[in-house]
Amino acid sequence: MKYKLQAFFAGRNGFDQLGRVILWPSLALMLLSSFIGVDWLRTLVYYLAFIAVCYAYVRAFSRNLSKCQAQNQKYLNWKAQTRLRFQQRKAYKFYHCPKCRQILRVPRGKGKIKITCRSCGADFIKKT
Ligand SMILES: [Zn+2]
Repeated sequence: MKYKLQAFFAGRNGFDQLGRVILWPSLALMLLSSFIGVDWLRTLVYYLAFIAVCYAYVRAFSRNLSKCQAQNQKYLNWKAQTRLRFQQRKAYKFYHCPKCRQILRVPRGKGKIKITCRSCGADFIKKT
């Protein structure tokens, strides 16, 4: 049985970090949706969670490894960046460049400053 399962998953993506982060909250949401009193809302939440579970399984059984690994890497990069920004939130403030959407980090507590984007050179004034 174990051998058959391993043979089935050979060459497939399996449940990577992104798959697990989609699957488990969706399953929990499917269970919790039964406690919602409003009929249409319960049905909507249930089906959205069901679609997310299906998507997690499609990714797990996918043979398109490069695409799935790229998605997973994008998720991991986003997670690392979010964690870093959360750790630095007391010392720095983060802004998006209005021209190119690049994330810019500036020190907090400097008053109104002119921020110049390093990638496109656009500048804008923000309170820090
Ligand atoms: Zn820019």
